[in-house]
Amino acid sequence: MTARGLFITLEGVDGAGKSTHAGWLVDAIRASGRTVLATREPGGTPLGERLRELVLHEPMHLETETLLMFAGRCEHVRTVIEPALASGAWVVCDRYTDATYAYQGGGRELGAERIAALEQWMQPGLQPDRTWLFDVPPEVARQRLSASRDPDRFEREAGAFFERVRAAYHARAQAQPRRLHIIDGSRSVDEVRAQLEAELRALLESAQ
Ligand code: ADP
Ligand code: MG
Repeated sequence: MTARGLFITLEGVDGAGKSTHAGWLVDAIRASGRTVLATREPGGTPLGERLRELVLHEPMHLETETLLMFAGRCEHVRTVIEPALASGAWVVCDRYTDATYAYQGGGRELGAERIAALEQWMQPGLQPDRTWLFDVPPEVARQRLSASRDPDRFEREAGAFFERVRAAYHARAQAQPRRLHIIDGSRSVDEVRAQLEAELRALLESAQ
């Protein structure tokens, strides 16, 4: 029987450094001889990408937004993530359920309880094997984001929103320290990469 692949997620606010490190991470996993799938949320399926456009740009209630995040995730888990993991592939996903706890739960102040109920209903038993949380102060993230880009519904939020997002991410990391590792993303790209490389090496060895 093929060993199940590892499920890795990257978390943190826009500008924290997820995309900067996703590419070489995927390449490094592939270079170890594994099949690897890079994907993202919201998105990851044709339906999910259409839902992404809606949640990023269409005004809606918080409950609607939360349900759409889980609707997209449901499709993503069932058609992409689970089959890939079952086939032995590793999956690297740019944002996952921790982001719902952080943005809708923390940033938009829905709280964790209803998200936990949706998570339990939709994906019982599926947790990432490793989550790297790129942690930067909101002002650092904001400075890094290009001013030329039109901000989406989340990027338009004020500083206090991102402080709540960050606090909710930290609460997740505190509750699940073995899975969710905080990466100080305010250091240089090289320093961040060196830490991730060491952690990835350990993961690859543990999964042999
Ligand atoms: P995310 O995918 O988390 O939104 P990105 O990886 O796209 O963030 O990074 C946002 C911007 O910040 C990019 O222009 C990137 O080059 C820059 N950046 C990423 N990490 C660092 C870092 N450690 N130091 C300085 N700039 C960085
Ligand atoms: Mg990105």
